[in-house]
Amino acid sequence: MNPAKAYAAYSADAPLGPFQVPRRDVGPEDVQIAILYCVVCHSDLHHVRNEWHGTVYPCVPGHEIVGRVTAVGAGVHRFRVGDVAAVGCMVDACHSCGNCKDGLEQFCSNGPVFTYNSPDKHTGGVTYGGYSESVVVDQSFALSVSPKLDLAAAAPLLCAGITTWSPLRHWGVGRGQKVGVVGLGGLGHMAVKFAASFGAEVVVFTTSPGKVADAIKLGAHQAVVSTNADEMNRHLNSFDFILDTVSAQHDLNAYLPLLKRDATMVLVGAPEQPLPVSAFNLIFQRHRLAGSLIGGIAETQEMLDYCAAEGITSDVEIIPIQKIDEAYERMLRGDVKYRFVIDMASLGR
Ligand code: NAP
Ligand code: ZN
Repeated sequence: MNPAKAYAAYSADAPLGPFQVPRRDVGPEDVQIAILYCVVCHSDLHHVRNEWHGTVYPCVPGHEIVGRVTAVGAGVHRFRVGDVAAVGCMVDACHSCGNCKDGLEQFCSNGPVFTYNSPDKHTGGVTYGGYSESVVVDQSFALSVSPKLDLAAAAPLLCAGITTWSPLRHWGVGRGQKVGVVGLGGLGHMAVKFAASFGAEVVVFTTSPGKVADAIKLGAHQAVVSTNADEMNRHLNSFDFILDTVSAQHDLNAYLPLLKRDATMVLVGAPEQPLPVSAFNLIFQRHRLAGSLIGGIAETQEMLDYCAAEGITSDVEIIPIQKIDEAYERMLRGDVKYRFVIDMASLGR
């Protein structure tokens, strides 16, 4: 085991602070990465504050990781020392169940091992995420990021990117379709970029009037302030697809009537409490309400390659790790444009 500098949450209501994580020795199938950038996802905040329950403290969050390879095992041929490599939300899965065989490791029947707060078979403890100077990962969960991309701005593709790409692809969003994106945060702004690049007509629903102009700059054709009932009513029965990225309590019943007959609204946002749904909003017009969880590894690589080819990255604000608690508070206020990225050099290597 090798100790690595990190930042951890010690409880649900204390600020994060320095911590040392035990990183395993590099095994034959392993890639060791010196982390350059790790992103702040709202899921980190849900975990740190134990909003989804089951957080094991100390908890080192971070599942959008980009860095440089510092060592590889004898069986690793896809990566060499010095390469750019990335890690997303998962670090292991069984590789043998039907879901893994279908390339959907996020639905592994034996439980995907998430990048943090999951049981770690190597240490007997839990996995520790990317708010750290390094990580060691099985090569099948290491991803390639084109060095042509700005690496800090590419890092959010590892979660915000794949989590929005996957449902947009799965539900076949493209040209000729009207697509809604609810919530313009980290996930939402990537959904806008992808849906627009797939040729869809994109409408953003935001609670923040100050984000309307940004939504258009990001590629949306229209932005609606969702508290304005008149504006909302103008879109009744008109959407082919709606992606809901909201992290907190909100009214799904405001959006379901905006779907066309047989159209689908997909939740990727994961608020702490259940969201009530009126049956009438599904029964009439045969609407569908669905969910989606990150994406598989092959699909994540496909998304990263698409972003390299199309020059798509995230809009980011770089912060030192010492500002992590302030970043969480700003994220809660919707004051993030549109992803905080931690410069890991700030850990003081
Ligand atoms: P974020 O950057 O904080 O964005 C969330 C956005 O939701 C905010 O910017 C805000 O947009 C809107 N919002 C916040 N509070 C609201 C409220 N009370 N009512 C209405 N709208 C509100 O968060 P994120 O990192 O994009 O993550 C979004 C959610 O997705 C989180 O719950 C996260 O855990 C979840 N997530 C799920 C997956 C998955 O696999 N399904 C993966 C990653 C993250 P406006 O200012 O535009 O209204
Ligand atoms: Zn995330």
